[in-house]
Amino acid sequence: MARKVLTSGIALLALMALPILVAAVPRASAAEAPPPNWSDARDLDFAGRGFLATRKDPKITTADGRVVWNLSDFDFLKASPPATVNASLWRHSALLARHGLFQVADGVWQVRGFDIANATFIRGKTGWIVIDCLTTTETAKAALDLVNETLGPRKVVGLVYTHSHTDHFGGARALVSQADIDTGAVKVIAPAGFVEQAVSENVIAGAAMGRRAVYQFGLFLPKGAEGTVGSGIGQSVALGTQTLAPPNVTVDHTGQTVEVDGVRLEFQITPGTEAPAEMNVWLPDFRVLDLAENGNVSMHNVLTPRGALVRDARVWAEYLTQSLSLYGDKAQVMMTSHGWPRFGHAEVVDFIAKHRDAYKYLHDQSVRMMDEGLTGQEIADSIALPPSLASEWYNRGYYGSMSFNARAVYQRYMGWYDGNPSHLAAFPVKDEAARYVQAMGGAQKVKADMAAAVASGDLKWAAVLGDKLVMADSSDASARAALADVYVSLGEAQENALWRNMYLTGAQELRQGRPKTQGVNLALDLIKNTPSPMLMDLLAVRLNAGRAGEGHVAIDLGFTDRAEHYRLTVRHGVLVATDKALPGDGPADLALVMPRQALLMTTFTPVKLADLVKSGVVKATGDIEAYNRLVSWLDPFTSDFPIVTR
Ligand SMILES: [Zn+2]
Repeated sequence: MARKVLTSGIALLALMALPILVAAVPRASAAEAPPPNWSDARDLDFAGRGFLATRKDPKITTADGRVVWNLSDFDFLKASPPATVNASLWRHSALLARHGLFQVADGVWQVRGFDIANATFIRGKTGWIVIDCLTTTETAKAALDLVNETLGPRKVVGLVYTHSHTDHFGGARALVSQADIDTGAVKVIAPAGFVEQAVSENVIAGAAMGRRAVYQFGLFLPKGAEGTVGSGIGQSVALGTQTLAPPNVTVDHTGQTVEVDGVRLEFQITPGTEAPAEMNVWLPDFRVLDLAENGNVSMHNVLTPRGALVRDARVWAEYLTQSLSLYGDKAQVMMTSHGWPRFGHAEVVDFIAKHRDAYKYLHDQSVRMMDEGLTGQEIADSIALPPSLASEWYNRGYYGSMSFNARAVYQRYMGWYDGNPSHLAAFPVKDEAARYVQAMGGAQKVKADMAAAVASGDLKWAAVLGDKLVMADSSDASARAALADVYVSLGEAQENALWRNMYLTGAQELRQGRPKTQGVNLALDLIKNTPSPMLMDLLAVRLNAGRAGEGHVAIDLGFTDRAEHYRLTVRHGVLVATDKALPGDGPADLALVMPRQALLMTTFTPVKLADLVKSGVVKATGDIEAYNRLVSWLDPFTSDFPIVTR
């Protein structure tokens, strides 16, 4: 018996090996997404269903009158699609631009289009339970005002954060007071790890992500048929006051139920999906399922173009399967953190299964091709959803895309390296571009080739050639102009809102140069909630090792407001912060006793330590010059670095 098993095992191995031995080298063939299913008009119904009212004054402003959001910014989308915008994207953006208060079920409403995300209001016995509260206090207040004006005034008695992204918690302090959170009069409910994830995602890589967010969201593009038409899951980012009201109820397991004001909320915890801390909400009293940002009106990003830690498409699909298993037999309505709901039991079940299948197809087929030897770029070129999935509007790539996400799957498992030794020691982009241009016969020849590519409609190749020309010589005005034109044409053709924004922003910067640096907007609540070790990590990555050279400083820090102590040492071009001096650290040059804010002021703003010592905010013992040396080694992150030029 054992022998037979062994033989079968070998036979199986041989069988498995056979296709590997005989398989031809896999060849990538460019895949095109099937065309949209224009006959499917369900979204027109869903996006408008239950509309009750909207705000009369389209402008939502700060107390001093600065516009945070303008409801009429996207009125242009009511027209027919122009030649400058992909028709499928135009349809999608026009639906997302609808704004106002919509009834989702008896007792459940959503305010949509007042920010990039939705705020959901559930009627309790006495007040409102709010799920997600938008990016800013200004837009959150506008949403609550509309609800109270339309449905009768009530107080907010509960607040749920579905996940740790700013567009779902930033408006909190417009709805709830700290005193009510402290006494428990208001329940603020969040998934485990919420606060840490909420503050951490943008700390260390914040400058790079901020710069690239300008591209992703088209923040400096005009809004209109020649500019940005939206962001794929919402229209734009509200630029107002962000807050973070810490939760007083933590959800750490699926099935956990919390009753708020007579309403039962059951949670499905989904960490590591669209956000590191995320959860879905089941409302058994209303038979409404809130899929947070795990369900969307577009394929989402497994890796956002602005940059982020890569997400896991496999886990994402698994949690959607669990949603189907837990609530598929009961849910009558499915709503999400962005976009419009889907109504009817059959509709909800069909959506969850097909949305799940899209992520699972993305994951499984990317890995299959990876295991067959294709590189991330080749997989991106080959992969497309089958017509049965791609024909659903919500699986199309308005925000994420199969092409970008396939490379993200590759990156998650394999990293940046494609295995080709020729790529181990590549040239810096400017140097390589100059060598290519020379090898191809010089700039004039490359320009002629580029013009021919444009004339034949091969814009992808034209962009490659134009990029080489501009990277080699950013002062070449005609190359910049030609590349900008190609980027505009590529942008206008995109179904993906972010790709459109990125191409058009690239063109804008080629034509006009880079925008001036925006001042860092320090959201006080976010900073207050950021653990000190994270701030130390941020200081460490700002240390310019070249400037520090072999310089050495050792500083003892005591934070009076936090009962925290740190030994901060720089040597060998490395900044290390520990909670006490370690063996070998030696004596400190300087000891400082101060509120933590003083560290932030002296390392993030021009405020000088000596002035804070003089005013009595900081108590210093030792050599203040040591601190000045440290500060002089920290790079400012200006967030306006070049992208389309070098
Ligand atoms: Zn969001």
